[in-house]
Amino acid sequence: MATPCQFPRLPDATQLSLSMLLCANVAVAQFAPGARTAGDPYLPAIGNGGYDVQHYDLTIHYDPVANTMVSMADITIRATQGLSEFSLDLRGFPGATVEIDGVAVGAAQEGNKLIVTPAVGIAEDRVFHAVVSYSGRPSSIQDPDGSLEGWVRIPQGGFVVNEPMGAMGWFPNNNVPSDKATYDFHITVPTTHTALGNGELVSRIDHGDGTATWNWHMGLPMSSYLSTSTVGLFDYTKTSSATTRGASGNPLEIYNALESTLPAAQKDAAARAVGHQEAIINFIASEIGAPYPFDSAGVVLHRNSLGYALEVQTKAHLSSIPIPLPLLAHEIAHQWFGNCVGPATWREIWFMEAWAMWWEWHWDNRQNGNAATVEQRFADNYQATAEPSRWDTPPADLPDASQLFDDFPVYTRPAMMIEAYRQIVGDSTFFAFQRALLTEYAYNSISGAQLVALARRLAQERSGFEASHLAQLDEFFQQWLYARGKPTLTPTTFFRQLPPRLAIRFISANELEIGWPLAGVEFLLEESGDLSPALWTPVPLSPIVTDGQARVSLVPPTGDRFYRLRRD
Ligand SMILES: [Zn+2]
Repeated sequence: MATPCQFPRLPDATQLSLSMLLCANVAVAQFAPGARTAGDPYLPAIGNGGYDVQHYDLTIHYDPVANTMVSMADITIRATQGLSEFSLDLRGFPGATVEIDGVAVGAAQEGNKLIVTPAVGIAEDRVFHAVVSYSGRPSSIQDPDGSLEGWVRIPQGGFVVNEPMGAMGWFPNNNVPSDKATYDFHITVPTTHTALGNGELVSRIDHGDGTATWNWHMGLPMSSYLSTSTVGLFDYTKTSSATTRGASGNPLEIYNALESTLPAAQKDAAARAVGHQEAIINFIASEIGAPYPFDSAGVVLHRNSLGYALEVQTKAHLSSIPIPLPLLAHEIAHQWFGNCVGPATWREIWFMEAWAMWWEWHWDNRQNGNAATVEQRFADNYQATAEPSRWDTPPADLPDASQLFDDFPVYTRPAMMIEAYRQIVGDSTFFAFQRALLTEYAYNSISGAQLVALARRLAQERSGFEASHLAQLDEFFQQWLYARGKPTLTPTTFFRQLPPRLAIRFISANELEIGWPLAGVEFLLEESGDLSPALWTPVPLSPIVTDGQARVSLVPPTGDRFYRLRRD
């Protein structure tokens, strides 16, 4: 709220200038620069504060021979504070200019930040358009682990994969997973080429001058690390599924783009592999009981030196052949876990890889004929004695960003944790947990603490977990996510280390065993010969206090006796 300007009585001219000065000071107090970081624990340089992006409308004219672009990003932004300046992640493109709602504003490149300075402050909650015009050569980015991402050059184009921060190599954005937005892409390339944005193809306009514009629409929120604008020479197909429906309920659209220059036999094999997408999608959707979360799917395949695949939203990008079907299942599972429900920060990369690996294993066993069950994979991985140091890295507390994609701590161990949780709470709770994740965090992000809280809640509501079980579950997640070393809590040990739940059973005709989960609590054991109306009388030796377990000798009963535990 603005503070009214107050100024002392002075001669008129002085009063005027002083009042302007004071009001200007008030205005400055309302507007402050947005933070030039989103505070990511592993990648603190990326992301920006003070705003929330709603939509990116990207117009890209790309020359695949020169590998240069002339582009414009119309970004719809809501200010979350009064902004005197804000920043966008953008690498390269010196000379980028910016307009805000049609008015040219200050723009300066500082490192990988485009600093935007409007002439007047932007009020909190205001929704505005920042239009960035930029041109030059899009870039690939080397990650802390040495791998490449971003606009990766391929012959005749660019293979565009952005995890975790490659997006800033080709368009200005808030380059953190938590700031999701919808997208439109208008990519103009030679008519010989295919341009692939996320989501569904709205139109392809042939300009009659040897170029065409591919218009793609991604109408459901997406993190910028999942965006793409891959351009190349592809065998491109679009089909509408007869068996599978997308998030809107319409037939799922499937867009595949296979490298045109693949030898015929390899191209045929790749086409057969990507033909499994619908079956995999239908399997996962029916097992979870939650529909595929987007309106399209597809595979973009082009051989290159990246050495990895990425779950680009609606269009998995694969960089080598042959295509292993479990890998395809992994990338498809990511559309639910990672893309629909994403990581809050890069600290939660284990979240999406846990689910993608679990589904890869489960699908491989259940639909792909692999004899190894997920239970077996857990046991094998847990019992393996090679490389004991692999347990030293906690998934949610990696030493630094160079380990973001380390196989055991980020993929295998979190998937084992998810499988252990399944065995502990049972299938019914486990799949309800997945549905709850997909309902409560749909098209949003989740933190580790939120995942644990939800897992706990489902265990309590659906598996009858009591206080001691919930405390044990907290310890379980603590060990598997945050602690160095090999977790000791597993499906085998989880209940062994707990007192049994409240139970009374006869050991012999005159001896009862009583177990209950609350240690140190006093109970009264009563007996009666009749339930209604019962005259309960205390059994000798009551009340009973032990650490959760007791044996009670009974006077040999005559006729039927009933026993009950009562807590005073
Ligand atoms: Zn993955």
